Amino acid sequence: MCGIVGYVGYDQATPLILSGLKKLEYRGYDSAGVAIYDGNKLNLVKAKGRLQILSDKLDAGAQLKGHLGIGHTRWATHGEPSERNAHPHVSYSGKFAVVHNGIIENYIKLKEKLLNNGINFYSETDTEVIAQLFDYYYNGDLLDTGLKVMAELEGSYALGIICDDKPGELLAMKKDSPLIIGLGKNENFIASDITAVINRTRDIIRLDDNEVALLTSSNVGVYDKDKRLLSKQVSCIDWDIASVEKSGYEHFMLKEIMEQPKVIRDTIKSKIENGEVFFENISLEKEYIKRLSKICIVACGSAYHVGCIAKYIFEKILRIPVEVEVASEFRYKEPIIDDSVLTIAISQSGETADTLAAIREAKKLGSKVLSIVNVIGSSIAAASDEVLYTLAGPEVAVATTKAYSTQLAMVYLLALYMANKMDKIDRSEYNNYVNELLYLPSKVEDILKCRDEIKSLARKFYSCKNVFFIGRNIDYAVSLEGSLKLKEISYIHSEAYPAGELKHGTISLIEEGTLVVALANNNSLFEKMISNIKEVKSRGATVLSITNEKHQEIDEVSDYKILIPDTIDIMSASLEVIPLQIFAYYIALFKGCDIDKPRNLAKSVTVE
Ligand code: GLU
Repeated sequence: MCGIVGYVGYDQATPLILSGLKKLEYRGYDSAGVAIYDGNKLNLVKAKGRLQILSDKLDAGAQLKGHLGIGHTRWATHGEPSERNAHPHVSYSGKFAVVHNGIIENYIKLKEKLLNNGINFYSETDTEVIAQLFDYYYNGDLLDTGLKVMAELEGSYALGIICDDKPGELLAMKKDSPLIIGLGKNENFIASDITAVINRTRDIIRLDDNEVALLTSSNVGVYDKDKRLLSKQVSCIDWDIASVEKSGYEHFMLKEIMEQPKVIRDTIKSKIENGEVFFENISLEKEYIKRLSKICIVACGSAYHVGCIAKYIFEKILRIPVEVEVASEFRYKEPIIDDSVLTIAISQSGETADTLAAIREAKKLGSKVLSIVNVIGSSIAAASDEVLYTLAGPEVAVATTKAYSTQLAMVYLLALYMANKMDKIDRSEYNNYVNELLYLPSKVEDILKCRDEIKSLARKFYSCKNVFFIGRNIDYAVSLEGSLKLKEISYIHSEAYPAGELKHGTISLIEEGTLVVALANNNSLFEKMISNIKEVKSRGATVLSITNEKHQEIDEVSDYKILIPDTIDIMSASLEVIPLQIFAYYIALFKGCDIDKPRNLAKSVTVE
């Protein structure tokens, strides 16, 4: 899960590595460290806690001179977050320093072997075995040693390695964790993500699994496990730098909320041509779709909530049964999947380890896998048969907003595309959906204009202890996301319930003043929602309703309301999630929470 940056070149390594790590803090931040070669020896500096503490220790880099180095921000999996367990890890002789993202599954066996050879360990991490193995196998050639070590490792890893008698060499290798190489002029980088290097270079090589790269300041060689030199594609990244900075907003989350009209528009427009949903390079043939027995959606967190909405939409429009599975559960439940099932994976980063494992399982069972991901060339994209890329751009805040919205937009597009292929939809209905889709971004814009109103509501409620989100049908699926958004960034306990289910138990938790956020956008179920709202109202709840302009009569049962523009029922999710994001954001702001980096969470969850 961590962030890795490595540098070899003509410039000072430490400040470059620190600024790269700053961009990667969303990947993990319980400790940080750097190892820099100063022309003589490896110098190691680590700190528990945020990167800023390390940066202060190093006087922003001025304290540690050298042109070769590696750095890391950690999200602990093996061993508590502490300075001792922070990366880089150094081998027993002090010769090698290693940064690692992932989990070495056979580290106990490897550790025993090394202990039996008299090698002592310093940390509790799985990573340290890698540093020790390098020293153990070292034969004077860094690349050869790397290949030997790689052959011993099981599990997932992105690695950066430096050695004190190779002052101009940086070694990198990867399996199941992301790693890119940034190509500069007389300098080269490794990093977990493009954002770490984009202000220095836009030319990128993506390392694939089981590849090893040897970088010097003037050359990059990428090899397979048999030491064959590979010819790798260099991509030029066209994201503008402003899109990875805060652009004047107080938090990335707010910036990303405000970007939603644009990214939803980009995503939708990229797939509509002359009023038709058009997927380039996707092969979902009519006959294939018609013989599908089931669609299985696998995802985690907010992407799972998109899957919950997709279930309602696909079942309504396609009349194909849909199962939505939390990816970490899917794999171990002997899923009933075969080639008549289409598996859809949803992930922002495309690196979510649980989702990746789930789609591998689905493929093994014969299912075609289609993924909806935001990061081009990511592991999930590479492992899928078909890929639909959302155009959210880089998302930095840990709590997703714009990626969720673009995933949802892609779900509508996919449903329309499949319905059209299956002849399940008549022309006027299809045109109506497409038209409405094209209006969504401007409706989102209208909601964003009312954010001060939502901010005042957040001011009223930020000290509450428990919140319930209720809704029916798609409104319920959106309430799952509203609840998650609130709890993950403000740490207020919240639950989402189907509105009709509350009376079967949970209503006993409602007492005088409990905040209930009621989503009442489904036009056909509006009356039913009114009854459910009355049920909580009469037990003392304070009700904040979110409904559309058509239903002004919500006043009779609500204490507060947020009105959103009207749309077709299946698309209401895209609109009603926006006030929920803003509400959660301001509540967390008033509570003084660390909004972009909520405690214990990381953005790209690359461990199972
Ligand atoms: N498994 C390693 C550790 O716990 C690396 C974790 C990470 O990816 O940050 O230190």
